[in-house]
Amino acid sequence: TLVGKTALVTGSTSGIGLGIARSLAAAGANICLNGFGDAQEIKQLQVQIETDFQVKTSYSGADMSKASQIESMMAQFQAEFGSIDILVNNAGIQHVASIEEFPTEKWDAIIAINLTSAFHTTRLALPSMRANNWGRIINIASVHGLVASAHKSAYVAAKHGLVGLTKTTALETAESAITCNAICPGFVLTPLVQKQVDARAERDGLSNEAAKKSLLSEKQPSGEFVSPEQLGALAVFFCSDAATQIRGVAWNMDGGWVAQ
Ligand code: NAD
Repeated sequence: TLVGKTALVTGSTSGIGLGIARSLAAAGANICLNGFGDAQEIKQLQVQIETDFQVKTSYSGADMSKASQIESMMAQFQAEFGSIDILVNNAGIQHVASIEEFPTEKWDAIIAINLTSAFHTTRLALPSMRANNWGRIINIASVHGLVASAHKSAYVAAKHGLVGLTKTTALETAESAITCNAICPGFVLTPLVQKQVDARAERDGLSNEAAKKSLLSEKQPSGEFVSPEQLGALAVFFCSDAATQIRGVAWNMDGGWVAQ
């Protein structure tokens, strides 16, 4: 049980981050939310988590591409909860284009949000984890942290980098009760992937359902999406005592994607 622990999930106002936040709350952790969105809807997400799971929540709208905003967010949550015991680096964006066509500002934004933000949150969370001699850092990488796809250069580079950061963090904490691991999802049907479904439907003149099938059939042998709840259950397992000696892994949950 995670009762009495506090978990920060970056990019948790939508998709996988929200699913993981709810799973950690179900296990008893207080939840620090982060991400963009309508203030009213975010308040609603907080109220839902609090009433469904009897835990405390807080929220920061800090932009994960800005070191100074990450610093303020970490200070805010540490003041409110004492420490962040579980850090889930999940915020991420995607852009699909060939290298020659790739907008350079998109490259910079993807490296900043998908990779550099995890360096900042990790360096700022570690001192209190070390003081408590307990912590869990879970980096939401991707199958694209293990293998590449064409037209996703920035994303693949950032996610391979995040897997590297995961291993270094695991080594630097190896003699403590702090663990760091990465989760590498295949396709999950969130707004990030729906954009790719829409682009394919438009390009190939397909229905939404046919475009989903076509996207999956290219990469994901199960032919089914991974769900945020399934990823949440894996994150809760990484937080358990049984997972204490799982360190520095990049664990794929991908319907068979990287088995090929
Ligand atoms: P999503 O678009 O549903 O959610 C992204 C979240 O990040 C939102 O809460 C958004 O507000 C937040 N966010 C975006 N930019 C931000 C910024 N600058 N600062 C703070 N928050 C920001 O996407 P998702 O599919 O749930 O993706 C979550 C993570 O999972 C990402 O790191 C993504 O790369 C990874 N992932 C997704 C899939 C997939 O198939 N959906 C697969 C593998 C990995």
